[in-house]
Amino acid sequence: MKNRRLVYGIVLGICAAISGRAAHPQQGGGPRLPPFSRHPVVALTFDDLPAGGGLHAGYTRTGIATQLTGELRAAHLKGIYGFANGQGVADDPDMQQALRVWTAAGMNIGNHTWSHPALSDITAAAFEHDIAINEPLLRQYAGNRDWHWFRFPYLEEGATLRQRDDVRAWLRSHGYRIAEVTLNFNDDDWDDPYGRCLARDDTAAIAWLKQSYMENAAEFIRLGRQTEQLAFGHEIPAVLLLHETSFTTLMLPDLLKLLRREGFRFESLPKVERNRAYSLNPNIGLPNGDSFPDAFLDARRTSYPSFKPEPVQKLDSVCR
Ligand SMILES: [Zn+2]
Repeated sequence: MKNRRLVYGIVLGICAAISGRAAHPQQGGGPRLPPFSRHPVVALTFDDLPAGGGLHAGYTRTGIATQLTGELRAAHLKGIYGFANGQGVADDPDMQQALRVWTAAGMNIGNHTWSHPALSDITAAAFEHDIAINEPLLRQYAGNRDWHWFRFPYLEEGATLRQRDDVRAWLRSHGYRIAEVTLNFNDDDWDDPYGRCLARDDTAAIAWLKQSYMENAAEFIRLGRQTEQLAFGHEIPAVLLLHETSFTTLMLPDLLKLLRREGFRFESLPKVERNRAYSLNPNIGLPNGDSFPDAFLDARRTSYPSFKPEPVQKLDSVCR
């Protein structure tokens, strides 16, 4: 699941460096934008339940779900959507228990397909089938709660406009809302390196992972907010993409602190996506995954604000 995004991240990092977008934002010549809202709103969401990332030594899926939901509840956050893949769950009691822990803690689950395919690699019909065969799992674990929210794996919403429209029509006719994403800092790219550094007990490297994770989060949350401003003329209630990995679970208290420091208030996904911006459609096929506001910028060929790229090369090489 992860490699596709890491490779894309490396390519993106190289492209940013070549095009000069690697420059620090204050030095860059990006568009002039208004100050940020003093009262921004965000919905947290978690992908790849119940098995985000590798299972590192000493961890279980149930343990991760217990710790993560404990942190969310300690922060008074309930009804958070986790997007689940059913593949492998039937044969794995630990995964089953992790899903029960998630919903028993008052969290919701939505559909993330059965096997996490990349839409750009398969037909719309095959993709829709993969969504449909995930539904028994959702019915089983969600009980009477609303599981008709869909998150596209890799944020790939269709390589062509025709494919995009086909899948959207299928989702609509099956009662789904699309859980769009406005803020994304590839949090899951830190999890494999964390597992390697944990196995070596390399505390200096783990300290770097923590520091770079927070720096990257701050940078890409800033970039996402500016991209919202460019796409819609102002910030919109945001949706943050996270993953149910051991490292994001470890970092969540610090991440919540960062968001609160920026003034963010937490709101549910359904409430955030009631904002009318989410009824807009960039009407563009994109072979690579993109956030919701990014797709509008791509459709209009608007240039992005400058940003410091994710440290993909170091993440790939650390603790090897
Ligand atoms: Zn995913």
